[in-house]
Amino acid sequence: GKEKKKLGIALVGLGSYSSGQLAPGLQDAENCYLAGIVTGTPAKEKEWMDKYNIPKKNVYNYENFDSIAKNKDIDIVYVVLPNSMHAEYCIRAAKAGKHVICEKPMAVSVEECDAIIDACNEAGVKLSVGYRMQSDPYTNEIKRMVKEKPFGSVRYVSSDAGYISRGNPDQWRLNHALSGGGALMNMGVYSIQSNIYGTGQNPISVSAQEFSSKPEYFKDTDETITAQMEFPEGVVGNLFTSHNANANRLFVSFEKGWAELNPCHSYGPLSGRTSDGKEIKYPHQSQQKVQMDDFAKHIMLGTTNYAPGEMGKRDMIIVEAIYKSIKEGGKKIP
Ligand code: NDP
Repeated sequence: GKEKKKLGIALVGLGSYSSGQLAPGLQDAENCYLAGIVTGTPAKEKEWMDKYNIPKKNVYNYENFDSIAKNKDIDIVYVVLPNSMHAEYCIRAAKAGKHVICEKPMAVSVEECDAIIDACNEAGVKLSVGYRMQSDPYTNEIKRMVKEKPFGSVRYVSSDAGYISRGNPDQWRLNHALSGGGALMNMGVYSIQSNIYGTGQNPISVSAQEFSSKPEYFKDTDETITAQMEFPEGVVGNLFTSHNANANRLFVSFEKGWAELNPCHSYGPLSGRTSDGKEIKYPHQSQQKVQMDDFAKHIMLGTTNYAPGEMGKRDMIIVEAIYKSIKEGGKKIP
């Protein structure tokens, strides 16, 4: 048959990220487009059909979702649901024969990450995690410096990712059953990611601490976590994540200089500088557009998958190690 020029994406879960970032990003995408929606809220069906010119036959709910298997317009299913629902919907998408993008954090346990990876392998579909930073030029400039060593080798990395959470204390991000954890699951994965691309290595050990000041608001999820990671050859990484402090920064210390991104994990425009007084600067584009185009190109042309399922699983291994360290550590100053 004739090769498609643009792959059709169906967004699953039409919350703030789908409506505020993914759907707008898809309007400018070159290799994919918004072909369908999956929602549990009937009122959103008509609103999205009208706004984005989506035909009724490409609209699903959580009950009839599996019949998407028969729909040739949909090539990729993008799961944008609360974290504890990612595994179920990614696996159902794979079984329906669709390529899968799974939002971050990939799932709420390493076991669930494995189940998603296995389902995609068995179905012969491609899988990526919604790590938009992996397609971002600022992030890729840090990766280049780590690899090409213009300032020598990396010795130390520090990365902060947090914001002050306000509003409804019953929101799903603060509900462990739906989120799988608090700041670490939501924002900490960015800091784990930047520690890893900022050193170019995976950590070999981790030691972590949890801090809490508002237990009445953060009833069953972590408020603030710090962690220190050991990388090969004595390289040290520092992580800060919080739902009670604003922080959005990456600092990389090389033997003969440094690089900093601040802001670092937000939707942009980002900002960066190096110790020689130069600015790191790129024209601003929707990160989500670039991310989804990169995945569509991976499927159509076999280019690199910048955020494969194994990367999401690797980060979940570190998340679990951080929670374990907090549980087993907890030394207080006497
Ligand atoms: P929202 O709460 O804004 O939206 C979630 C949507 O999921 C809801 O609107 C609803 O859609 C659907 N849903 C189904 N069941 C439930 C339930 N029990 N409780 C709440 N919602 C439910 O969340 P976000 O859009 O902010 O986040 C969704 C996912 O995207 C998360 O995994 C998050 O980590 C990730 N995310 C990633 C970002 C990134 O930069 N990569 C940024 C923001 C979020 P409907 O009414 O259509 O059924």
